[in-house]
Amino acid sequence: MYLGMGSFSYIWLIIPVLILSMYAQSKVNSNYTKFSKIRNTSGKTGAEVAREILMRNGLSHVQVIRGQRKLSDHYSPRTETVSLSPEVYDKPSISAASIAAHECGHAVQHATAYGPLNIRSQIAPVVQFASGAASMLTFLGIVLAYRGNITILNIAILAYVIVTLFHVITLPVEFNASSRAMTMLADYNMISEEDMEGTKKVLNAAALTYVAAMLASLMTLVRLLLIRGSSRD
Ligand SMILES: [Zn+2]
Repeated sequence: MYLGMGSFSYIWLIIPVLILSMYAQSKVNSNYTKFSKIRNTSGKTGAEVAREILMRNGLSHVQVIRGQRKLSDHYSPRTETVSLSPEVYDKPSISAASIAAHECGHAVQHATAYGPLNIRSQIAPVVQFASGAASMLTFLGIVLAYRGNITILNIAILAYVIVTLFHVITLPVEFNASSRAMTMLADYNMISEEDMEGTKKVLNAAALTYVAAMLASLMTLVRLLLIRGSSRD
């Protein structure tokens, strides 16, 4: 019932996405763990790396705070705060420097009005509403579609289009923050050429999780479209 008609073809679409998601997640964990044990060239903690990068970019007003959870690292454009997880904040590892630099990459994007980040921030409230609607209306939409009423399903599809667009616009934001991070770490002599391999592995694995999330959202959209198509026959 839940997979609906057209489920055969859908399963062949979703399996590679599930495998990619699991692969990306395991790469994030293994690379993060491996390179949190290796000291970075500068010997600076994530917090020190972040403060120096921000200072060098004229962003000393951006706060660097110590977050609570593992891998909770993020930049908030609203409060202009780089929040680093405890391990990243405190450790002078390659992982810590890479993640701190990536979050500062977002702060630089914000300060230079990088287009995709602007769009992402502007549509964020709509996306929050849409993703709530999507999760509430999907099941009901599918049930009603089998009874010949596709109104709710159409709303759920629209909500998934918005959510998927958000995942798509997230990709350039994330890839650009990582490429800025690598350039800054090298330019400011925080990571040696040899250690840069580790930085690339840590940041590329994280980027892959965003690709997987985008594809998972896209596949849900495809599934709903298949159900919509079959319910109209
Ligand atoms: Zn990011």
